[in-house]
Amino acid sequence: MAAVEVGRMCESPGCDASAKLQCPTCIKLGIQGSYFCSQECFKKSWKVHKVIHQVAQGDLNSGGEEKEYQPWPNYRFTGKLRPFPQGPRRTVPPHIGRPDYADHPEGVPLSEQRVKGASHIKALDDEEIEGMRVACRLGREVLDEAAKVIDVGVTTEEIDRVVHEACVDRECYPSPLNYIQFPRSCCTSVNEVICHGIPDTRALKNWDICNVDVTVYHRGFHGDLNETFFVGEAKPEAKKLVQVTWECLQKSIEIVKPGEKYREIGNIIQKHAQANGFSVVRSYCGHGIHRLFHTAPSVPHYAKNKAVGIMKPGHCFTIEPMISLGSWRDEIWPDNWTAVTIDGLLSAQFEETLLVTDTGVEILTRRLNKNGQPYFMDQLGN
Ligand SMILES: [Zn+2]
Ligand SMILES: [Zn+2]
Repeated sequence: MAAVEVGRMCESPGCDASAKLQCPTCIKLGIQGSYFCSQECFKKSWKVHKVIHQVAQGDLNSGGEEKEYQPWPNYRFTGKLRPFPQGPRRTVPPHIGRPDYADHPEGVPLSEQRVKGASHIKALDDEEIEGMRVACRLGREVLDEAAKVIDVGVTTEEIDRVVHEACVDRECYPSPLNYIQFPRSCCTSVNEVICHGIPDTRALKNWDICNVDVTVYHRGFHGDLNETFFVGEAKPEAKKLVQVTWECLQKSIEIVKPGEKYREIGNIIQKHAQANGFSVVRSYCGHGIHRLFHTAPSVPHYAKNKAVGIMKPGHCFTIEPMISLGSWRDEIWPDNWTAVTIDGLLSAQFEETLLVTDTGVEILTRRLNKNGQPYFMDQLGN
């Protein structure tokens, strides 16, 4: 507490004593007044008093949302979203089969690293394909559970709880948990977050968009999918972005068949995104998936990429375009996970896990009701 001149009254309600102290935060923020007679009165008034700090910082802090929790005081955010505290770590009962990284101290997926850099794409046999069908169907059921709770006022932490419990109920390990030390059971990516957002105690707001990315590990196989949801009402620019992102995924799935080049997927996606004035994120790609969470092939979503490989029956991989309203460039928050647009503008994503069949493609994570329609279309009243 800084000392002040005499002749002022304490601001604490019901106190007539002369003030001897001024709030140091208010001095720092340039707020006039805020005089108190004693530490004790200052403490008593703190709950009400601190609100004026938050109001003042809102003006100084380019419209950021949260002022209380600042884990990285020197980080310059690209948009308005801020991190909130996370809940306690969740555990998975020991009777559920776990991937190797679940118990590695740094969450290192050793089985993936053993084949890292190799371009060979595994063609699954019938038994493995059946394993993938089951894991992917369960992953879809888990996302369906998450879809039921997304709403204004619900925290992403609560979505994570629902996802975690839906996994455990289905004898699944939530694949993101401890993967390279990712702390939670799914990714929730809000507004300018492109992907890998960490669920926390921020409540979703009207006009937000929120992607929920679920991967489950069941009896040796991973199934991976995500959808972007509207929270409450949707702004026109969000409606268009989400619709076009969904279309990008659909158009790219249409070309999947034996003999097609993996690098062609990006040409289809970028053409459609660009025609609508949007950009394609380049730092994150679709990926092969089966007994490993992320493996060959790498599937870029941008045009003129150099992806290696030709589709063959038995290949399993994801397509998961991330489409941005402004710049395609991303940066990562100091939590080392949350990828955000560098201009703070919206980014949307959809993902399915696919199987290349003898004649075309099977969408293993397809929604089973409403003819595979995504939830955002339900939300628009379709
Ligand atoms: Zn995913
Ligand atoms: Zn994925």
